[in-house]
Amino acid sequence: MASQRLCFIHYHELGLKGRNRLAFERALMDNIDRNLAGYQVDKVRRISGHLVVDIDDGDDIQAVAAAIAATPGVAKVSLAWRCDRDIQEMGRTACLALAECEPYQTFKASCRRSNTDFPIDSMELNQLMGEALCAFAPNKQVKMKDPDVTVNVWVIQGSAYIFARALQGVGGLPVGTGGRVVTLLSAGIDSPVATWRIVKRGAVAICVHFSGRPQTSDSSEYLVRDIIDALAPAGGIARLYVIPFGDYQRAIAARCPGKLRVIMYRRLMFAVAQRIASIEEAKALVTGESLGQVASQTLDNIWATDDAVDMPVLRPLIGSDKQEIIREAKALGTYEISIQNQSDCCTLFMPRNPETHADLREVREAWSQLPTDEWIESIVQDAEITVFDCLGYRMRH
Ligand code: ATP
Ligand code: MG
Repeated sequence: MASQRLCFIHYHELGLKGRNRLAFERALMDNIDRNLAGYQVDKVRRISGHLVVDIDDGDDIQAVAAAIAATPGVAKVSLAWRCDRDIQEMGRTACLALAECEPYQTFKASCRRSNTDFPIDSMELNQLMGEALCAFAPNKQVKMKDPDVTVNVWVIQGSAYIFARALQGVGGLPVGTGGRVVTLLSAGIDSPVATWRIVKRGAVAICVHFSGRPQTSDSSEYLVRDIIDALAPAGGIARLYVIPFGDYQRAIAARCPGKLRVIMYRRLMFAVAQRIASIEEAKALVTGESLGQVASQTLDNIWATDDAVDMPVLRPLIGSDKQEIIREAKALGTYEISIQNQSDCCTLFMPRNPETHADLREVREAWSQLPTDEWIESIVQDAEITVFDCLGYRMRH
């Protein structure tokens, strides 16, 4: 048998989940298959604690590996070969794997067998593979500790799996294993990163975007759709609710003390998001807030907005610095979209001196003057909903 190219997929955290492990593996496999729908490859298969995808002649292994690596739950994807358990064949294939790692200076072989019916133990196998590799690359050095390249030769069941080059996976947990959340998604830099982080931990996101329409244009809505496209490879976004919010902000601006306006806008956003969460059976809200990042993101204001809802509000970026968030946004491809954002509802009817340390009694008093129940119902009625094909949304939660 000629050696067969395949992606050899490693995952970490699933191993920790004990009894749930099977369900997690199932979710990961389904998500990987979904991400590979555009390729000719067969479905992903499980072999002894790892997953493999055989590569068809028509597909580029690098592209397939990149699609797998973008799937939450994947720690690493090795560009591997499978060959017979024949020492000559294994040695030749190990050399191919090493050659694929140029440029490098140092290497070692790391061999193991999961079947004791294979007569050669891992120490002897290390030696045999090491010899083959040294003969192939006489100008390179063997180094046992931290070599540039490790050529892995694993005998699993009836075959040998051989791999050196690998792509780093995004890590995290398979989408659909973490329940549903409602994420407040602006077209800014932060909330796309917050949404990504929570999806990466296995949650399915229902996104809610408050547009300044009809008081502003709908440009932020296009940006949010582009952001959702950029986040799509993770497979975790199920729906987008676009809310024309401008008229409600106008009404708040007309009725509330100037310094409390922003808090009132935000309380209303949270209350609407909570209503959507109850419709969607989501168990938390998610925002892109980071403590102290802007004047309004103080603990007092967080307290004053959370007071409008009675469900958990998750803030994955609460301890992150702006530079860190920007770096992540750039890697995700959302940064370039977000910096085009000029007018969403955030810039609408802004007071000159927004409150930074809101007094809860004053906030509640102002809130009680507004017809919030009625507003929430009509806002949710008028929401424009886009449904995305999201595997995790259909899974049991
Ligand atoms: P971002 O970069 O995410 O826009 P920001 O630094 O501009 O955040 P704020 O305007 O205070 O900060 O918004 C804080 C959070 O409130 C956002 O991260 C987002 O989760 C939510 N939010 C703000 N504006 C909107 C909006 N127009 N639609 C949906 N959610 C919003
Ligand atoms: Mg913003």
